[in-house]
Amino acid sequence: MKYCFSKFLLSSLKLYGRNTRFYCFFNDIRIMKRLLVFTIIPALVATNCVAQQKPNMDSLVKASKKTEVWEPVPTVVTPGKLSSDAPSDAIVLFNGKGTDAFQKKGGGPIGWKMDAQGILNVVKGSGDIETKASFGSCQLHIEWRSPAAIAGAGQSRGNSGIFLMGKYELQVLDSYNNPTYSNGQAGSIYKQHIPLVNASRKPGEWQSYDIVFNAPVFFSDGKLQQPATITVFHNGVLVQNNVTIQGGTEWIGPASYKQHPDKAPLVIQDHGMDGGNPVSFRNIWIRPLSL
Ligand code: MG
Repeated sequence: MKYCFSKFLLSSLKLYGRNTRFYCFFNDIRIMKRLLVFTIIPALVATNCVAQQKPNMDSLVKASKKTEVWEPVPTVVTPGKLSSDAPSDAIVLFNGKGTDAFQKKGGGPIGWKMDAQGILNVVKGSGDIETKASFGSCQLHIEWRSPAAIAGAGQSRGNSGIFLMGKYELQVLDSYNNPTYSNGQAGSIYKQHIPLVNASRKPGEWQSYDIVFNAPVFFSDGKLQQPATITVFHNGVLVQNNVTIQGGTEWIGPASYKQHPDKAPLVIQDHGMDGGNPVSFRNIWIRPLSL
């Protein structure tokens, strides 16, 4: 009964309202509804979203700070103009101005000669040279050149070597179209690790080694606590990727560790009277690493 009455009232109002102010009133309501649906409600929803995002971002920033570490602050080091140049904290061992950092292995003046161009040339048969200072773990940069005039073959062609701590040899050899055993070519850890690739330049061209060496650690009773590891870039190309050194370099037989001090001189090899031409060196610098 109530429903019938309401329906009657509503239809009466509509009939009456078409030509009266009631019609305008109902028309306005329709417009208001459209406004609400298409503009006001979306605007309110958007405003609410922005309001919700802000506190979320704040909480993310707060959470991210829990994993920030501000100390220690790394020491500032000024790099060289070129990456091959010594950075500000490096010890320059040879830069073409003198050989004072070196002595003959075991002591005495070196037999090698620095020429007018500031290049250090091996004098074959004069013996290895070593740094007067001792080093343990380090970053080492060294540039070398096998002579353009090829003499000898295999291990007799441009043979030298970088002996970290005087014991662990990174081979220097003219390995450009010069077959030899793989674990004895340029970039090898001699008789222990074959280089990942052969990145050799032609004879007569300068080449570089960039080395990261972690010295071995011994217990007080002389037993090995931690072997040495080494990473090497040959002419900027990775050839040894953090490999474990098996012990002091041996020409014959397996390598093994014998206890030695935490620091020892860096040795550069004179391979002796092997029939090959002598190797040259320049731009040698080292950064001792405290681990
Ligand atoms: Mg050698």
